[in-house]
Amino acid sequence: MAEREENIVLFPFMAQGHIIPFLALALHIEQSKNYAVTLVNTPLNIKKLRPSLPPNSSINLVEIPFSSSDYGLPPKAENTDTLPYHQVIQLVEAGISLKPSFKKLIENLTEQQGNPPLCIIADIFFGWTASIAKELNVFHAIFSGNSGFGLACYYSLWIHLPHRYVDSDEFSLPDFAEASSIHVSQLAKTIKEADGTDPWTIFHQKKNLPEWVKSDGILFNTVEEFDHVGLLYFRRKLGRPAWPIGPVLLSTKRQARAGKEGGISSELCLEWLNTKPLNSVLYVSFGSMNTISASQMMQLAMGLEASGKIFIWVVRPPIGFDLNSEFKANEWLPEGFEERIKGSKRGLLVHNWAPQVDILSHKSVSTFLSHCGWNSVLESLSHGVPIIGWPMAAEQFFNVKLLEEELGVCVELARGKSCEIRHEDIVEKIELVMNETKKGNEMRSRACEVVEMIKNAKKDEEGFKGCSVKALDDFFSAALSMRKKTKKEQDIVA
Ligand code: UDP
Repeated sequence: MAEREENIVLFPFMAQGHIIPFLALALHIEQSKNYAVTLVNTPLNIKKLRPSLPPNSSINLVEIPFSSSDYGLPPKAENTDTLPYHQVIQLVEAGISLKPSFKKLIENLTEQQGNPPLCIIADIFFGWTASIAKELNVFHAIFSGNSGFGLACYYSLWIHLPHRYVDSDEFSLPDFAEASSIHVSQLAKTIKEADGTDPWTIFHQKKNLPEWVKSDGILFNTVEEFDHVGLLYFRRKLGRPAWPIGPVLLSTKRQARAGKEGGISSELCLEWLNTKPLNSVLYVSFGSMNTISASQMMQLAMGLEASGKIFIWVVRPPIGFDLNSEFKANEWLPEGFEERIKGSKRGLLVHNWAPQVDILSHKSVSTFLSHCGWNSVLESLSHGVPIIGWPMAAEQFFNVKLLEEELGVCVELARGKSCEIRHEDIVEKIELVMNETKKGNEMRSRACEVVEMIKNAKKDEEGFKGCSVKALDDFFSAALSMRKKTKKEQDIVA
């Protein structure tokens, strides 16, 4: 291939849920455009990313210096997956101090390549990179691995903290009426506890979100057709383009696994699935870092068993235990549970990490019980798998709202990691979705329609470009036209 023109710099926040969609975007740009891609991160994250790249990849992984002890973080803590929840904000704040090093890095790249990068694509937590891009005359975009709808709710909540000013448990968002009513149980802990002076509010209200207006726009890993309302919010709010370019996803092979030990190989998992009837399996997983409480785990196990359905469940030690410690089925699950499901070949317990994309794309999988992180949602919807939602944190509650109220592909089972849940309710929801009920059939047919929307959005054929393909083209056209304009201005000055 001819030498790649132009350089695109990508800079995700140091968390697996952020790095995964950035890596997917880097690979997508590498495959679909003739641009060089530079992916920036701290040394340990870069080291972990390296094996996720295909052997012949031209993506340039570049380290930005970072020493966790400078920020009161434990040694080698460079990713949220090595931190207890209360210290995540320290890593978020440490990000801001990368400003001088990031500027230097862009200047060095400019010197090496004789041209500044065509654009900087940065994380939703790195709003500050927009000022640097402006200073250096580089086109800038934020890339959201979240849905437009979820991020709109999240943005509005942090800007306004509306729940602080109402007596009731339900309220609306002052600048996003389309989200209708929000319930306090849909607020992540950090937002619920925010009093205006806490570090998360200060970070978002003073240091991060106000910087977004300096950006040239936002890229979303989503599809216009089913996420229009959230995208409109940002177009209206920031007066900037919102480019929906998704779904951009990683294959199982490329999943950046954050050093997590896979509990089962893809081959074994697929072999097991091959023995199951079409559309018969429930897949249960709560993302890359969540686990549930011991009592929830017990009820879930009882519910799965009582439902009589075939299932794959990704298990981790419950809340309060080291996630990397041994899983004690005898203590945390009903007596004899593991032996019974193994004996009957009805269930597969996978420890810690499963080949999710392979599972969701298998024809025997019928339904996904998920925390509704946006990557999981996109992976599920791309394969037409309806969802039973159990949101746990961040904007997941609003993803469920979008999926249930707007798209009709999801029913919500529970909210949060501390809610009480009864196995009878779990059985009821599983039967509602997996059996031939009116609701279940409706969800399956809506899920098929969403698959078509996704296929259309990604279509790139002679004479027809889907809206996600067009959006990425529009984004690069905007970056190139800024490049031309800057060049013209420089020529005039010279
Ligand atoms: N994932 C996986 N195996 C697991 C758990 C998670 O491959 O056992 C992947 C999943 O396919 C998705 C990502 O990890 O791509 C999780 O991202 P998501 O946005 O759903 O949730 P988060 O982990 O950020 O909460």
